[in-house]
Amino acid sequence: MSLLRQEVLEAAAGGGRGPSRDEAVGLLGEAAAGRDGGALLAAAARIRDAEKGRTVTFSKKAFFNVTNLCRDYCAYCTYRSEPGAAGGAMMGPGEVAALARLAAGSRCVEALMVAGERPEERYAEARAWLGERGFSGTAEYLVHCSEAALAEGLFPHTNAGNLERGEMRDLAATNASIGLMLETSSPRLSGEGGPHRMAPSKDPAARMRVLRDAGDLGIPVTTGLLLGIGEDCAEAVDSLLAVRGLHARRGNIQEVILQNFRPKPGTPMRSRPPAGARYLAAVAALARVLMPGMNLQVPPNLLPGSYHEALRSGINDWGGISPLTPDHVNPEFAWPRIRDVEERTARAGLRLKCRFPVYPEHAGSAPRALRDRMRAVADGEGHVAERRWRGPE
Ligand code: SF4
Repeated sequence: MSLLRQEVLEAAAGGGRGPSRDEAVGLLGEAAAGRDGGALLAAAARIRDAEKGRTVTFSKKAFFNVTNLCRDYCAYCTYRSEPGAAGGAMMGPGEVAALARLAAGSRCVEALMVAGERPEERYAEARAWLGERGFSGTAEYLVHCSEAALAEGLFPHTNAGNLERGEMRDLAATNASIGLMLETSSPRLSGEGGPHRMAPSKDPAARMRVLRDAGDLGIPVTTGLLLGIGEDCAEAVDSLLAVRGLHARRGNIQEVILQNFRPKPGTPMRSRPPAGARYLAAVAALARVLMPGMNLQVPPNLLPGSYHEALRSGINDWGGISPLTPDHVNPEFAWPRIRDVEERTARAGLRLKCRFPVYPEHAGSAPRALRDRMRAVADGEGHVAERRWRGPE
């Protein structure tokens, strides 16, 4: 590593200025190529310890696969389905209520509500299904599902693609935070041959608009990058800087997920190599250097490397882990047991705690009623008290 880059990392780790865009591209390029990645990881871990302490969080969740019908086609996705196809899902209100009861019985905290992108815009079947039940669209139905989950004592967190302002405002009454992956800020990946060619909702300009709207509404958002889908190091850095810019604008980005691409059989990207452990760790570490105080997550069921390496890269969250439901987006990758995650985290000298879908520092944005519900089951640090979440796995 050049003396200049060493100085940049030392300054960042010491609380000084972070790297410029070009310096960041250089750092990532070297680390991803296996040259001096240790220095980047060490700086990131030091910053994590200073900013976040030695606590790593997770969210004990149930995954509500509300609908996997979707108007878009991403070249890596096996989640989406067609009406009538095996595995096609529109989860009825009774099923939602039943899963909410089960989840509450398993002491889950989060109800993760997931839907494909506006299926009613592509499929008459979806329009009819929603209309027969009195809903004008998926977003309105998600409000109903969220209310049902809340009634069982769960805390909803909705991930339903590009929502309109009014839809987000309606969801915010029950959802203390929402999720929307930026995935990438590179318009190149929406071009010919790119993974988002058939997915207008993944146009970075469209995603950025929704993320900005959420900021204007004061709604905490979990966003993130999908790594290894064809971006180069400069585009990965630009995506991190785009998220940093969003957060600088309204302060509402509560968490950044660094998710590694895994190729799936039957998709146009089935033969593409997965994102490697070294690249994932380098991007996560760079995210920590560029956004020292941000909550950073890598999903443990998708890890290409070890827990230890992920923790060394400066993350402070494992995201949602369910003792009850599969990861419907990546069903081939089972969730680890919470006890195992806790042990592996402890082996790295860190302490695992259960959090709400909204982070403590953003909980003040939630409506009063939601805040009161959280306070009733929170510990002194604003995380979920052990008596609320410990239980059957
Ligand atoms: S990744 Fe999301 S938006 Fe893309 S096809 Fe799958 S469900 Fe639709």
